[in-house]
Amino acid sequence: MRIYGDQVLRQVAREVKEINGELAKLAESMLQTMKHNQAVGLAANQVGELNRIFALDASLQSPKFEPFVLINPEIVEVSGVQVGEEGCLSFPGIFEKIERPQRVTVKGLNLEGEEFQFEGEGVVARAVLHELDHLNGKLIIDHVGSIRKQLISARMRKISNRNPP
Ligand SMILES: [Zn+2]
Repeated sequence: MRIYGDQVLRQVAREVKEINGELAKLAESMLQTMKHNQAVGLAANQVGELNRIFALDASLQSPKFEPFVLINPEIVEVSGVQVGEEGCLSFPGIFEKIERPQRVTVKGLNLEGEEFQFEGEGVVARAVLHELDHLNGKLIIDHVGSIRKQLISARMRKISNRNPP
């Protein structure tokens, strides 16, 4: 897992031009990493890959949810407002209150290259928008005020000093 301070988290992921075996392998490993960490979402940047793809799994929130990956995701529509705690596997132990739209409609491609649209609200909408941020090099620390920002940076420096790359 790439942790805050790693440059790849600040880079903009590239559009996927071809859905091939390599991408399918990446998607599979992202789904497993997400499940293993009980995360709701994971973006390619977080595993060191700069492809526009993210994985989503809200099955802990709603048991019928089928985990999926979305390739070249684009926002169709957002509405409403919610404020809630948000965490990130790239910021272990950090949870911040962040304002996001309450609902989101996003579209993209599945691993078969077919276009599909997904609508989510609440925690799921939050996760979709969080993962889209990752693909654009944006992180939770960019959503907080300057004092929180300093506190988070200080905590993250401690963590990375303990676990040098
Ligand atoms: Zn994250």
